[in-house]
Amino acid sequence: MLKKKGVILYGNRKIEICDLPLKKLKSNQVLIEIKAAGICGSDLHLYRSNKKQLGARYGQVIGHEPSGQIIHKGIGVKKFNEGDRVTINHIIGCDNCKYCFQGETVLCSKNKGIAAVGYGGDTNYLILPENSCIPLHKRISYVDGTFVACTGGTAYNAAKLAISGPVRNVAVFGLGPVGISTLLILNKFGVNSIGIDPNDKRRKFAHSIGVKNVKNFDTVKKLINSSINKEGFCSSIETSGSKEAQSRAIDILSPRGLAVYVGLSNGLPTISPEQIIHKQISMRGSKVLSSAMAIEMMNFMVNNKFTFEKLVINKFQLEDAPEAFDMFDKGMPGKFIFLPNP
Ligand SMILES: [Zn+2]
Ligand SMILES: [Zn+2]
Repeated sequence: MLKKKGVILYGNRKIEICDLPLKKLKSNQVLIEIKAAGICGSDLHLYRSNKKQLGARYGQVIGHEPSGQIIHKGIGVKKFNEGDRVTINHIIGCDNCKYCFQGETVLCSKNKGIAAVGYGGDTNYLILPENSCIPLHKRISYVDGTFVACTGGTAYNAAKLAISGPVRNVAVFGLGPVGISTLLILNKFGVNSIGIDPNDKRRKFAHSIGVKNVKNFDTVKKLINSSINKEGFCSSIETSGSKEAQSRAIDILSPRGLAVYVGLSNGLPTISPEQIIHKQISMRGSKVLSSAMAIEMMNFMVNNKFTFEKLVINKFQLEDAPEAFDMFDKGMPGKFIFLPNP
């Protein structure tokens, strides 16, 4: 008899591990034995929220970066079988618009994250619609599978966008898991890049796992002086969500540069049109991958022997969730991962 456990949100940094009922599989659903589940920067926003801000998320399982193995399938499941290894597309769409038909649930106007509709990923057994599952390449680990589901996918999408034109150098703001993942991918693409963060511990950690160029969050002038020929950067990627970094991501660009925004913030305006007009800057938003892009990314990883595993120095059991969230909340570097069924 399987016993389900989950990491439940109670607001104001309170989370608990609870026993939960394992529901019966409905048609087109699969039951996944979760092997790895990452904690995301966006989970921290929920962790820090109060009961009112959490709304319907109060008392629900948190997490949207699981990977694992299918152990049962419901009636009508066609794409998967018991024993299949899967990562996930963590955005669920309406299933009935042009974006959903293309697997681009991230662009569906009615989309929701899996945890917002009762499929929280920080658990040992997860029921999901089969359409949310993506086959995990046989040469990619479950830990790397969690990166494909969110952090690494976000990084891959942003890195590809940033080098979509002729690009000599890229500056990445923020050395959290998304920022470091982006820099490791850019390195594999062969692009000259630097990572910028005011946190000394994060800079040291990034450097220790292969990000060669790291810089403090210096003035615009100092950052430009550190670029090739002191001409500024062709592209920037902002992953931190900090207002100052959002603005500086434009000011360090050379003319006709491209700023790619990934980090979510509180939505306050920080950028004036003058910053964009004179240098004829372009701005792009970027988010997680479509299912098709996730498969492309896994092929990139296998073909280039690329892994995110060196980012993971913090591995936990579900029971350690309060400690894990507390450490991540306090700015400890690296990616935090649960291994619910090692
Ligand atoms: Zn995430
Ligand atoms: Zn849709």
